[in-house]
Amino acid sequence: MKSSLSSATLLSGKTALVTGSTSGIGLGIARALAEQGANIVFNGFGDAQQIEKLYTDIGQEFGVQTAYHNADMSKPAEIEAMMAFAGEKFGGVDVLVNNAGIQHVANVEDFPPEKWDAIIAINLSSAFHTTRLALPHMKRKNWGRIINLASVHGLVGSAAKSAYVAAKHGLVGFTKVTALENAQTGVTCNAICPGWVLTPLVQKQVDDRAAREGVSNEQAKKALLMEKQPSGEFVTPEELGALAVFFCSPVADQVRGVAWNMDGGWAAQ
Ligand code: NAD
Repeated sequence: MKSSLSSATLLSGKTALVTGSTSGIGLGIARALAEQGANIVFNGFGDAQQIEKLYTDIGQEFGVQTAYHNADMSKPAEIEAMMAFAGEKFGGVDVLVNNAGIQHVANVEDFPPEKWDAIIAINLSSAFHTTRLALPHMKRKNWGRIINLASVHGLVGSAAKSAYVAAKHGLVGFTKVTALENAQTGVTCNAICPGWVLTPLVQKQVDDRAAREGVSNEQAKKALLMEKQPSGEFVTPEELGALAVFFCSPVADQVRGVAWNMDGGWAAQ
């Protein structure tokens, strides 16, 4: 009999590594996995003291072990060092959440090539590197969960987001192949495709819009939502954390290779 989704110890004894977990969605997912008893390896940029407080506090709040590695997800050698660190500290990564991501908005002919390269490296190639390094441990244990933070932009396009849309469509494709290659094992791989979530990544787009259109922050937020997201509401990191927990649960053993949108109806249009 499979245990229920709500068991508070769903992930006790397991280790989750969440890239880009010092902020926004990654932080929300890391908290949700810690609440389920997982030890967490944090990663991402920010003020060193604030980061130390963040992972120490979450460890204490949920009674789990936490650690942090500052690997830059655009650099394969640093990703290798982070995965080795997780192996030494916790014996391996059981739940891998590929979340780190950046955005840049410009039309193709104005898109800086170095921004294109950075977005492809951080939003797409980093998932290849972490996944190839996490799989041997997961396959040895015949259990693992790989969760890729794609986007509704992994399913549909938007003007001025060529690199982001290309990376996220690529990540959805990579998710399917990873799921298929491991379909007869206990390792699943799925993608989460959020619509607008009010994190620093989106706040920057709100600020740019407010400045460009000479409107208030609130008006810019509403306009941003109403253009694409029929519910008119932001998705939250907590809701995305709950979806990640579902993917980790035994009832999701046969959920493999999906690109699951949580987008207030965006992709239904
Ligand atoms: P965010 O800016 O709040 O957080 C991004 C995280 O990634 C931070 O911890 C940051 O330090 C880290 N990061 C950035 N570059 C890095 C690098 N080179 N190496 C290591 N860490 C790095 O953004 P967010 O909105 O929480 O986005 C998280 C993920 O969700 C991204 O992949 C993003 O594309 C995706 N997403 C976001 C939204 C949204 O509306 N916010 C919607 C769909 C998908």
